[in-house]
Amino acid sequence: MKFEAVIGLEVHAELATATKIFCGCATKYGAEPNTQTCPVCLGLPGALPVLNEKVVEYCLRAGLALNCRIADYSKLDRKNYFYPDLPKAYQISQYDLPLCRDGFLRLASGKTIRITRIHIEEDAGKLIHSPEGEGYSLVDYNRAGVPLIEIVTAPDLATPEEAVEFLEKLRRILMYLGISDCKMEEGSLRCDANISLKPAGAKHLGTKTELKNINSFKALGRALAYEIERQSELLAEGKTVKQETRKWEEAKQRTLPLRSKEETQDYRYFPDPDLVPIELDPAYVAAIAASLPELPEAKKRRFIEEYKLPEYDADLITGSKHLADFFEAVLKFYFSPKAASNWIMGEVLRLLGEEGLTPEALAVNPAHLADLLRRIDAGEISVSQGKTVFEKVFRTGASPEEIIRAEGIRQISDEARLRAVVAQVLQTYPQSVHDYLNGKTKAAQFLIGQIMRETKGQANPQVIKVLLEEELAKLAQG
Ligand SMILES: [Zn+2]
Repeated sequence: MKFEAVIGLEVHAELATATKIFCGCATKYGAEPNTQTCPVCLGLPGALPVLNEKVVEYCLRAGLALNCRIADYSKLDRKNYFYPDLPKAYQISQYDLPLCRDGFLRLASGKTIRITRIHIEEDAGKLIHSPEGEGYSLVDYNRAGVPLIEIVTAPDLATPEEAVEFLEKLRRILMYLGISDCKMEEGSLRCDANISLKPAGAKHLGTKTELKNINSFKALGRALAYEIERQSELLAEGKTVKQETRKWEEAKQRTLPLRSKEETQDYRYFPDPDLVPIELDPAYVAAIAASLPELPEAKKRRFIEEYKLPEYDADLITGSKHLADFFEAVLKFYFSPKAASNWIMGEVLRLLGEEGLTPEALAVNPAHLADLLRRIDAGEISVSQGKTVFEKVFRTGASPEEIIRAEGIRQISDEARLRAVVAQVLQTYPQSVHDYLNGKTKAAQFLIGQIMRETKGQANPQVIKVLLEEELAKLAQG
């Protein structure tokens, strides 16, 4: 029998606010354990939470960008469970009245993935377990009270590829909105997946499992593919799938049972009596809607139409808002979109990759890249010299002009001068000339190399090629 997968995602994004959701503690990642805590986020008796308004604003930004309906009345609830990472023994979250609901995000295929809800909540602390057998755990409460939004999709995804595409698109949008840095490796973007299988075409849903511990896009795709395989085998053998939470084990590339699924009533949700309900003024919501930036999909379409970029280029460059802004800033000084896009996709991304940096760290002055491209067009320097100069611009921040002058880089296109160098090289390497004239055309490459060496790499390659061919043709006739 053929089975179809039914997949839904729950995505947690840590919000990039300066302070926590209910207190003034800092949210900086990587600080000494327990240095960013206070009675409120440590859950000490009598401490009272006060909602950070920025958290509501950020959640609304996400909701509006994802086409959600915004609640005019919302509240915060206590979700009770006992675990050492949760000092109060309850998490403040939202239950029946989330801030945003009924949105959607469209995949490249045009398929619509419904977003059931987006709500705000606080993050828990972090447990660090001792090595096997030593039997203790350490807890860091710096993360306790860091604001999160949880984005829950309807079970509209059908394949691991769709799930990965959804998460990538969602990540792009959240980063464009500037509400989360979305670093999966630092846990600021986390994803759980629900997955069940049903016979192809069937209406009823099968038993689902929930996958946790997914910390990269690759892991999401692989965990879902593994689970589809595992559940198909069980069903094909006439066995049943157990409703449970499973964790993805990266090292062994498999999922393992973690615990049987809690029911909602296990959490004994109730409204938090310390926090007042959130009543949203439509004018406030409208002001946030008006402040949203151009989103990735719209920017990509505009780059294709306005700058005639190929879809591939437009997709890659709008993959980061910073890169897209850089691209447009270069065009202000030098309007040649395809040339700028080639340099960004080539040299800029190559150098960022070499340094292990994300586009956000790119510090090149756009006017500098524009200046460099203009000099290449004018034949003042060659493309390969341009690459050498750009690498120095990238690393030092100096202008191309400063580097070109300091290093004496220029392109020699003067024919008479180059013809003399060509003649001299042909005289120095008679064997190569002989080889070339006897059909070993590869010998020309060697000769070009020698000419470049003689001119310290400054000869214009196009000019040399023409001159060399002319001189060799003369020798062939003579
Ligand atoms: Zn605090």
